[in-house]
Amino acid sequence: MEYNHEHKSERISWIRAVVLGANDGIVSTASLIIAVAASQAAGDNLFTVGMAGLVAGAMSMAAGEYVSVSSQTDIEKAELALEKSHIQQNWALEVEELANIYHERGVEPQLAKQVAEQLMEKDAIGSHARDELGITDLSQGNPLQAAVYSALSFSAGASLPVMMILLVSQAALMPAVICISLLSLVVLGSISAHAGGASKTKGAIRVLFWGSLAMAVSMGVGSLFDVSI
Ligand SMILES: [Zn+2]
Repeated sequence: MEYNHEHKSERISWIRAVVLGANDGIVSTASLIIAVAASQAAGDNLFTVGMAGLVAGAMSMAAGEYVSVSSQTDIEKAELALEKSHIQQNWALEVEELANIYHERGVEPQLAKQVAEQLMEKDAIGSHARDELGITDLSQGNPLQAAVYSALSFSAGASLPVMMILLVSQAALMPAVICISLLSLVVLGSISAHAGGASKTKGAIRVLFWGSLAMAVSMGVGSLFDVSI
């Protein structure tokens, strides 16, 4: 039997980002529509509410992702610049520092020093980035790309419940939004679980639970503000 060495963690990161965006889009827009529908607000307003939720959510996702990825990259750059100057100023001390790290991980002091010297000879900054700072892949994040991807995936998710407003009558809207949302959450949950090599059932149950909770709470809040009373 062949042993499978392949790990899936690289693929996970971008699938995770896209699934997360779509999940957010489905849950928040469906909850918004359900809350407004439960308040018995006039039907013509529902499409505006849904579209407003889609646009606002997509923009907020894009902004959040842009800021988060940029600041992460800024921090890494600053740390690397500092490390670079340390290495230029005091090579011996940096060798010792790296050797100590390997020693703490279980390598004998003599060997740890040899390993540190040889690694730094080949790539001084790289070895400190990896083993001292924990930065494995330099400048991997592109803030603009991350922003566009999350805005698009949020919009794609949000468009499912919004579409229901156009497709079904107002009487059937609430069950239709709940059904399409839970169904698509289950599909997304099992896709991301499958991509990560985890249990599909577990992934599906997890999103089903949080999706149902969000919609149930929104429905409750919406009925509190029943405008028809
Ligand atoms: Zn260092």
